[in-house]
Amino acid sequence: MLTGKLCGRSFIRGFLIEMENKDCVFCKIVNKKIPAEVIYEDDKCLVIPDKFPATKGQSLVITKKHEDYIMNLDSKVYQHIFNVARKISLAIDKAFDTERTCIVVEGFEVPHVHIRLHPAYEKRLLTSGFEEGIIELKKVVNKIKENL
Ligand SMILES: [Zn+2]
Repeated sequence: MLTGKLCGRSFIRGFLIEMENKDCVFCKIVNKKIPAEVIYEDDKCLVIPDKFPATKGQSLVITKKHEDYIMNLDSKVYQHIFNVARKISLAIDKAFDTERTCIVVEGFEVPHVHIRLHPAYEKRLLTSGFEEGIIELKKVVNKIKENL
């Protein structure tokens, strides 16, 4: 979003981010151009099950606003998405009887801020998985929602 407050380098950066949005898969999900099962949604973020989970229940907290690097977020949005990450992680723990739910933030594959909620079922982190079908994703969503 471009505003009158942006100038110089910030304006250029803002413009480039706008240019990137049209090809961003998470922007398309946030804007409902790509359908997704939704676990939680508010004005700042969306939580969906990961379509390529390494472990059962893996989910993503995605900011509504496109930003590629989490450290560039407004501090209120930054704190908010981590609070949402905790709330959903505790529901995942209950829903799937995990050892714990880990959080991972890197954003290299999809350069749009997201926190990966990564359920661990033993004391190590499995990081690769297979594409999950819609029926299984719906089951995951319902099971987490029941535990919110
Ligand atoms: Zn985006």
